[in-house]
Amino acid sequence: MTALVAGDLDRTLIYSAAALELNGSDADAPRLLCVEVHEGAPLSYMTETAAALLAEVAATATFVPATTRTREQYRRVHLPGPPPEFAVCANGGHLLVRGESDPDWRRTVGARLAAQCAPLDEIRGHLLRTADPAWLRKERIAEDLFAYLVVERTLLPDGWVQDLAGWAGTRGWTVSLQGRKLYAVPQPLTKSAAVAEVARRTGAAGILAAGDSLLDADLLLAADRGWRPGHGELAAAGWQAPHVTALEARGAAAGEEIVRAFHAAAGGSRSDG
Ligand SMILES: [Mg+2]
Repeated sequence: MTALVAGDLDRTLIYSAAALELNGSDADAPRLLCVEVHEGAPLSYMTETAAALLAEVAATATFVPATTRTREQYRRVHLPGPPPEFAVCANGGHLLVRGESDPDWRRTVGARLAAQCAPLDEIRGHLLRTADPAWLRKERIAEDLFAYLVVERTLLPDGWVQDLAGWAGTRGWTVSLQGRKLYAVPQPLTKSAAVAEVARRTGAAGILAAGDSLLDADLLLAADRGWRPGHGELAAAGWQAPHVTALEARGAAAGEEIVRAFHAAAGGSRSDG
């Protein structure tokens, strides 16, 4: 049996130019591989070292990208190694099996959301009523499952996100602020539920996971071992769990360290099985 390795993408395994945090000398900067192009321009990167290690992880373990991205946004990302057999998109709303959304999984998710949290329309209405055009840049619905705003973060008033999180929490929704994006996501819509489904189908020997944001906390808690970078929402909140390693490294260096940890741990579980 092989291990299941579930990795968040943005700011965990892949990094935009703004998130790379290449703070050392230019002469010592790592060489980068571009893994995403958007509107004809390079958008996301990993270090070449991380890329080579990730290809090896994908060859020995079941590597599952686990992202809040929509399917369309995910399909722009070309990770090293073979195309993953499973991928989690829309924060667990879509389970891609060889690139196609599994209809049974989507129905299961739909039933959970209908039963367990307030409808998307109610949350969206509240977002639009309370967001201020002074700092709101875009408003989007993702896959008819959740909402996100693109905001001018420096202009966001103190307390607005906390107030929103309190209001949303009583309705069964989670709020997560990542870079310039503010997500409102139903609490039953989780990466961990979709990853557990992959583990069930593959009979995985164990789950390794990594993530940087509040939307990754459930995934990390459900894993046997986890890693989080020194940047991001979880690090800023001082979030920790006994089986989750809190790395000091930030930016693309943290991404490389996470893949190195996956490589060491997944290799170990393979020889155990
Ligand atoms: Mg992330």
